[in-house]
Amino acid sequence: MIYLDAAATSPVRREVLEAMWPYLTGDFGNPSSHHAVGESAARGLADARAAVAAWLGCRASEVTFTSGGTEADNLAVKGIALANPRDRHIVTTRIEHEAVLESVDYLVRVHGFSVTYVPVGRDGLVSPDDFAASLRPDTTLASVMLANNEVGTVQPIATLAALAHEHGIPFHTDAVQAAGWLPLDVGALGVDALSISGHKLGAPKGVGALFVRGRIPLEPVIHGGGQERGRRSGTENVAGAVALATAVRLTAEGLDARAAAAAEARDAFIAAVLEEAPGASLTGHPTSRLPGSASFVFAGTNGEAVLLELERRGVVSSSGSACAAGSEDASHVLLALGYPEDVARTAVRFSWGPEMPADQLARVAPAVGDAVRTVAQLGR
Ligand code: PLP
Repeated sequence: MIYLDAAATSPVRREVLEAMWPYLTGDFGNPSSHHAVGESAARGLADARAAVAAWLGCRASEVTFTSGGTEADNLAVKGIALANPRDRHIVTTRIEHEAVLESVDYLVRVHGFSVTYVPVGRDGLVSPDDFAASLRPDTTLASVMLANNEVGTVQPIATLAALAHEHGIPFHTDAVQAAGWLPLDVGALGVDALSISGHKLGAPKGVGALFVRGRIPLEPVIHGGGQERGRRSGTENVAGAVALATAVRLTAEGLDARAAAAAEARDAFIAAVLEEAPGASLTGHPTSRLPGSASFVFAGTNGEAVLLELERRGVVSSSGSACAAGSEDASHVLLALGYPEDVARTAVRFSWGPEMPADQLARVAPAVGDAVRTVAQLGR
């Protein structure tokens, strides 16, 4: 079986499991406890925070551990918006993950915010001019994802963040999908808040982190014992934080070379699929895209049927976002890119991690062609 759904989740890496194990057993303490067992857990947590901060190029005090990407996005969007007592307008896009879209919707429904969705092109890119035109004097937050989880388009985040700052508006980016592939120096990106998630990087599901620049006020979303400097109450998931820190260390090692090799393998894969599969077209931007994914629409088919045929041929992939799992709706991302609903329903996303051998990826293209032809012939 070839697993090509890394954008949904990835297995826990052996080194990560080994690093977290002591914090589930001998060093199991509560980091708030004032005894030796608690103190060793607190040291593990502090080291993990320092490692994530080093990767992001920020201060340790600017990193808040969360239960994953969804919580990090909720905390960024609701936390920054609600900490501003005056302004009530959000700028975002319709291709964000549901964690951002639903948080914005909550602010609109419950707190009377208004929202402007910056249009995106067919390639999934936000134009800086459109973004600038959406900013208002009462804009309290702009949130645009670094890389899209369905079509892989990478946004010009540094440019967008600089435009927001011209008006003194804080800028958040969801970097959950970008994290395995792109350097995430928050200084270079110029962002005020950035979300990551462990299970896309080889750490377990249920741990993530939010960077928030020190001077940005943040209203907590989860209230309680005041852990995480009052930003996120709840006994810390020490083993999860250690796992995330280990995963980011492993990700950072040799990242540029791995990303370049994966981009080359991706381009060969895209070319082969376009040649093998009748009616195939690539979604997302042709060049400004993640090295670890490629999504296609296959005219005249049905994406779910193609997935089943692929699985029969030993290839596991996805029709789009696993986060909207169970939903029969066409992808909100492809609809926002202007694809008609019937075409959006023919989408298949292939995604892989840095360890994917190029020759294995190359072997998938004929299977894709075969699966698409079978579905098209059966008229599904
Ligand atoms: N943001 C993006 C872009 C994602 O792709 C995902 C998950 O797929 C999330 C947020 C949510 O992260 P988590 O699964 O850790 O809650």
